[in-house]
Amino acid sequence: MALLQISEPGESTAPHQHRLAAGIDLGTTNSLVASVRSGVTDTLPDKDARHLLPSVVRYRADAAPVVGYQALAAATEDPLNTIASVKRLMGRGVEDVKTLAEHLPYEFVPGSSGMPLLHTAGGDVSPVEVSAEILRTLKTRAEESLGGELAGVVVTVPAYFDDAQRQATKDAARLAGLKVLRLLNEPTAAAVAYGLDQGGDGITAIYDLGGGTFDVSILRLNKGVFEVMSTAGDTALGGDDLDRLVADWIMQQAGMQAGASHVDMRRLMLAARTAKEALSEQTSATVVLELDGTANWTGELTRDRLDELIAPLVEKTLGPCRRALRDAGIRAGDVQSVVMVGGSTRVPLVRERVAGFFKTELMVDIDPDRVVAVGAAIQADILAGNKPDSEMLLLDVIPLSLGIETMGGLSEKIIQRNSTIPTARAQEFTTFKDGQTAMSLHVVQGERELVDDCRSLARFELRGIPPMVAGAARIKVTFQVDADGLLSVIAEEQTQGVTSSIDVKPSYGLSDNEIETMLRDSMDSAAGDRDQRRLREEQVEADRVLEALHSALASDADELLGDAERASIDAAAQALAAVRRGDDYREIKRAIAAVEQASSGYVERRMNSSIRSAMAGHKVDEFKAP
Ligand code: ADP
Ligand code: MG
Repeated sequence: MALLQISEPGESTAPHQHRLAAGIDLGTTNSLVASVRSGVTDTLPDKDARHLLPSVVRYRADAAPVVGYQALAAATEDPLNTIASVKRLMGRGVEDVKTLAEHLPYEFVPGSSGMPLLHTAGGDVSPVEVSAEILRTLKTRAEESLGGELAGVVVTVPAYFDDAQRQATKDAARLAGLKVLRLLNEPTAAAVAYGLDQGGDGITAIYDLGGGTFDVSILRLNKGVFEVMSTAGDTALGGDDLDRLVADWIMQQAGMQAGASHVDMRRLMLAARTAKEALSEQTSATVVLELDGTANWTGELTRDRLDELIAPLVEKTLGPCRRALRDAGIRAGDVQSVVMVGGSTRVPLVRERVAGFFKTELMVDIDPDRVVAVGAAIQADILAGNKPDSEMLLLDVIPLSLGIETMGGLSEKIIQRNSTIPTARAQEFTTFKDGQTAMSLHVVQGERELVDDCRSLARFELRGIPPMVAGAARIKVTFQVDADGLLSVIAEEQTQGVTSSIDVKPSYGLSDNEIETMLRDSMDSAAGDRDQRRLREEQVEADRVLEALHSALASDADELLGDAERASIDAAAQALAAVRRGDDYREIKRAIAAVEQASSGYVERRMNSSIRSAMAGHKVDEFKAP
């Protein structure tokens, strides 16, 4: 998995012409925009000197939506029209959203093209449109403070984002009027922010604990180039969960009843979060909770108490850390530096446990909220052509293997999981039947052997294959994953050059938990899968044998077969037909052997007869050795 430095074709410009570029961290909880100005990279503040933009959009009837702190402040009074955490909905279908919706206060309505819409006072809006509002706000901020139009941006996405989620992010940027130079994985951006690409070779872990999600990635720097060795995480673990634990404690202390109003719940969550954040600096915090109508409550929360409450959750982040190390094939001791990303890594207990786990000092000098945007800005500056000598593009990995369905419902993996991108790999396939002129290609994603256990990404057909005997055609199928992680598949018939291709843009994405589940399933079921694969392979072989036999019998059985021999071949073929859909691969194998045995004389005569017909009209001399 060695990585190469690649320069983007046609992206270089004259060195003196500075083009305005920005990096955008489009976060679940908070978003930021950063830029390189006179060699210094930093995030850009709003008019009130605030760098973070809460990723919250409030829709109103007959008025433009509001974004950020103003929207966040309205969340209490107007929860249904105030959309938060929209990143979780990006690239998801109606079905995916149904499960997520249980935890969200919004009203969903199905839209056309399988995209769910959120019903608000300002109309029905898609997650892509909501994200576009956030991006538009950051674009305006950047253009006002840089004093000109942005030539292009780099937008960061979680490393595990699949095609649909990446595509949705790109669509949102386009909708906001931004030119996306490329999408960049968040951990890679963080490593760039620390200049790890400039330092000595070594292995880095990126620990990113944000508002609602946790990600850990292992990167290896090799001769100045990054390689992403593995990624892991938990999509339902973050600062919000810490808030919930603190809120539970407050409810208990204040004697609050469950089933409080929306307004009271939001106030409670805000009080919990404020106390938690204060405890990153102080060892004790006063909690003041004002409730709707009823009495107020004031209490004291100590850091020790907080640590006790949140310890199990902090511990839970170490599971994915172990998994990432295992996938990368390394041990904790091999990790030289650990970069801390995300607001929740300010929590002292988090730092303590992570430092203990990796047994190394943590990199915390750059504000953990800003570090991803800073790395993205550095990359955007390079891609915009402002630094002609450093043309490095960082390469990332794909989260699940990509493959094609072969006979018997098996998945033939063409690009392995954790392969670095961009990448292209080709494999040859052939026809199953004599005279087959079309081939149906089914692109799947996942680690399992059977297609039914993988996720279907796309189907397309290759037509115009010249008719040949089964197994003679050569169809080259190429999988290509571009720098943004988007897949295209090309199938080409090798003799005539007929091609067919598809860009894989599924209408809905795979949830990150599904990715986790699919990985876990593939590990749990490896042995069972092997038996299943053997069974499917024998079933396909049985079909092939019967197909070939029938086509042979139809063409020359009358000349070459006597009645008795014909009867025994038919009996063996019938026996095979009877067991070929059974679930015992040994039985099918035996039946195939029986057919081969019964037809061996016939097959030999056929071969001789075809040699004879090939030689007909020629003189024997021609075939003599010279
Ligand atoms: P995301 O990447 O999901 O958008 P962020 O990286 O912005 O999220 O992290 C937001 C989370 O960080 C919130 O849960 C917030 O409470 C938490 N956070 C911010 N500052 C602090 C702090 N000083 N101490 C503890 N947690 C903090
Ligand atoms: Mg983040």
